[in-house]
Amino acid sequence: MKPNKNYQNIAQSYLFSTIAKKVNEFSAKHPDKKIIRLGIGDVTLPLCSAVVEALKYAAEELGVKETFRGYGPEQGYDFLKEKISQYYSNHNVKLDNDEIFVSDGAKSDLGNILDLFDKDNTVLVPDPVYPVYVDTNTMAGRKILYIDANASNDFLPLPDSSIKADIIYLCSPNNPTGAVYNKEQLKKWIDYANSNNAIILFDSAYECFITDEELPRSIYEIEGAKTCAIEFCSLSKMAGFTGTRCGWTVVPKSLEFDGMNLNKMWLRRQTTKFNGVAYLVQKGAEAVFTPQGQKQITENLDYYKENAKLISEVLTKHNIWHIGGKHSPYIWLKCPNNMNSWEFFDYLLENVQIVGTPGAGFGKNGEGYFRLTSFGSRENTIEAVERLDKFLS
Ligand code: PLP
Repeated sequence: MKPNKNYQNIAQSYLFSTIAKKVNEFSAKHPDKKIIRLGIGDVTLPLCSAVVEALKYAAEELGVKETFRGYGPEQGYDFLKEKISQYYSNHNVKLDNDEIFVSDGAKSDLGNILDLFDKDNTVLVPDPVYPVYVDTNTMAGRKILYIDANASNDFLPLPDSSIKADIIYLCSPNNPTGAVYNKEQLKKWIDYANSNNAIILFDSAYECFITDEELPRSIYEIEGAKTCAIEFCSLSKMAGFTGTRCGWTVVPKSLEFDGMNLNKMWLRRQTTKFNGVAYLVQKGAEAVFTPQGQKQITENLDYYKENAKLISEVLTKHNIWHIGGKHSPYIWLKCPNNMNSWEFFDYLLENVQIVGTPGAGFGKNGEGYFRLTSFGSRENTIEAVERLDKFLS
């Protein structure tokens, strides 16, 4: 047996283990100091009551012969796909139910979708970026090109004719930068993809944070996307499903390459290799899209948005350059006094006991930047902001 040698090429990620090590060392030396963690990408508010009630109801159903469910459709139950399709119609996007595939979250499908593509395709990934795009393609032995996202392009790189790529990853609102593409910018990528026989893998896991009506929440809001883009979305950040696990992937039926239909291929792939999402979880997910569920998750999202606003305000007050936070839970700041990302990490930990994520962990262009998140509690966020304000003054 020959193992997949590509695994030897995956860069070890020391980011979160190094953070944990540094924080543990600091706590051991200063047990009296309270550390505030603004580095996490996980939500902290619990599931809303509409979801909890639906989960309980579904659990009861499963315990009764007449309503018990066994194997379900791998691509998701129609009751949930119907709700997702209505959600898209709120943004004037029309999708057929069989273009929506319910998943256990965006990460799995972002990796699994690569089954549909030849190994010899060239992949284009923005730098800095969510590390899963790079690692999954490295595992498959694909060639990866990087496109620079930096202050000169507002962390929103655009295509040019020199780029030769077949598979393009776009993430908007972006993790880690919080930058969001507008419609004109996305149109440039769509035109590029359509004229170069390329596919866009559009990660919209944070679309629920967008507040500006003019900014696209789905790539399909832009003409031409249905012939070149697959979209990945998730209930993780939208409704606190990071532990419950549910999301969806949209594969339009008009995606045809070399006479092969990607929608049919993905259906075949999922029905062969994926067992589907538990009935119970899909009932919980359905409740997210009811009027009561939407009201409750909006309250939770507003809570995180307010945290982001508080962080952004203190940075603005002290002239620290930053983006994000407005349509994203992430605030991406330039480390002051030309500190590098890890120097600034140590500086914040030592002086104000705030833990964030060094931008360098997301790619070379992240060096000199730092990510803070709004997923903390209000109390902790306020305390962190007060500490920053006092210290920076
Ligand atoms: N895409 C991005 C950009 C993310 O930051 C994350 C998680 O943090 C995911 C996808 C994964 O989401 P899920 O929990 O749905 O797998």
